[in-house]
Amino acid sequence: MPGFELFGEREREQVNEVLQTGVLMRYGFDGMRNNVWKARELEEAVAKRMQTRYAQAVSSGTAALTVALQSAGVGAGDEVIMPTFTFVASFESILAIGAVPILVDVDDTLTLDPKCVARAITPRTKVVMPVHMCGSMADLDALKEICDTHGLLLLEDACQAIGGSYGGKPLGSYGDLGCFSFDYVKTITCGEGGALITDNERFHKNADHYSDHGHDHLGSDRGADAHPFLGYNFRISELNAAVGCAQIKRLDEFLALQKRHYDIMRKAIGPIEGIAFRRVPAGGVENYSFLNFFLPSRPLAQKAQQALTEAGVDACFYWYDNNWHYYRKWAHLTHLTSLGKLPQEIVQQLPDYEKSNFSQSDHWVGRTLSCLVKIGWTRAEVEERAQKMAQVLKRVLAAPQ
Ligand SMILES: *Cc1c(COP(=O)(O)O)cnc(C)c1O
Repeated sequence: MPGFELFGEREREQVNEVLQTGVLMRYGFDGMRNNVWKARELEEAVAKRMQTRYAQAVSSGTAALTVALQSAGVGAGDEVIMPTFTFVASFESILAIGAVPILVDVDDTLTLDPKCVARAITPRTKVVMPVHMCGSMADLDALKEICDTHGLLLLEDACQAIGGSYGGKPLGSYGDLGCFSFDYVKTITCGEGGALITDNERFHKNADHYSDHGHDHLGSDRGADAHPFLGYNFRISELNAAVGCAQIKRLDEFLALQKRHYDIMRKAIGPIEGIAFRRVPAGGVENYSFLNFFLPSRPLAQKAQQALTEAGVDACFYWYDNNWHYYRKWAHLTHLTSLGKLPQEIVQQLPDYEKSNFSQSDHWVGRTLSCLVKIGWTRAEVEERAQKMAQVLKRVLAAPQ
C-alpha cells in the first residue's frame, strides 16, 4: 500500500517548486507565489481522477472525515452509523463534532453489513459511513438504497481503498461524500494530508470555508474575507500538497504494481483447502492494497499469523487482536475517556458498547488475516514470499488440531 516506498525525484521536484517561492500557505500571497498553487493543483487532480465535480484537500484523512460531516450539517446528537472494524479516526471525527458513533457489525466483505445497518437506524440517524477497509468496498448499492429510503447521507471512508471502484465509479465518488487519507502509510502520500470529494456544490463550499476558519474566499484579500459561519483550521500546507501532486499522478502505476503482487500471492494460496477470500461485492474492483483471507477458525488464524511472522513473512495483520482497528480494544470509546468534558449529547446517547453483541463481527474478523501488499518488492521477492506463505499456511492447516 505505501506510496512512501516510491518517493523520489518527482516528489522532490514538486516540493522544490514551492521552496523556490517560499510561499508555504495555500491561500493568499498572490504576488509572491509565482503562480504556484499546489493545494489547488492537488484538488483538481483528485477531482479529475475520482470523477467528481469537487475535491477539498485538508490536513489529514481524519480532518477530511470531520470536515465532510460538518459540511453536510451533521452536529451534536446526530447519529452516524460506522463499522466495528475500521480505524479509530472514524469515531474520532464523529465525536469531534458532538455526534454519536453507532457501531454496527461487519460481514464477509469486512465492511458494514447492510442488514445490520437497517436495524440500527433511529430517528436521530443522519449518516451511514461505510469504511472500505484493506482495499475493498462495502456493498454500496444496498447501503445507498437504505440511505435513500430513510433520507440519510452516505459518506464513504475510502482512505484504505483509493483507486478501487464500484459499478465503474471510483470509490469515494459513489456516496454523497467520500474521504481519502494521504498519510505516510497510505497508497499515495503527502506526508500528512487528506481530501474529501463530492458532487454537491453546497457541501463543497461549506468544506472550503469550514476548513479555513470559515473564510468565504471571495476576494484576494484574506483580511477582508467574511465568515458566514464558524470554522476551524484543517488546511493542508503547500509542501504537503506538493508531494501529493507528484503521487496522484502515479496512483495508477502504484495500483498496477499492487495488483501484480496481489495476484501472485492470491494464486499461490488460493488452492489451499481451508483458505477463503474476503467477499468483494458484485461490480467492485479492489485497489489491492491488502490480500485478505479467512482461516477456518479463530485459533487457526492466530496460529497462521504467528507462523507467518516466524517464517519471515511480515506485515500480515490479525486485526482481531489489534489495538487500533477493531472495537474490542476501544475501551477509551466505550468508557468515553477524554481529557475534558464531552458534549452532553455524546455522554447521554452513546450506547453501552460493553453490553453490545458483535459476535457476527467476531466471526469474520476473528478468522481474518490481511497481508499488506507492498509496491517496492521485485517480482522475485513477491514470488518467494507467495511460496513461503503457501508453505506455512498448508503446514498450519494440516497440523492436527
Ligand atoms: C488512515 C485512515 C484514516 C485517517 O487518516 P489520517 O490521514 O491518518 O488522519 C481514516 N480512516 C481510515 C480507514 C484510515 O485507514
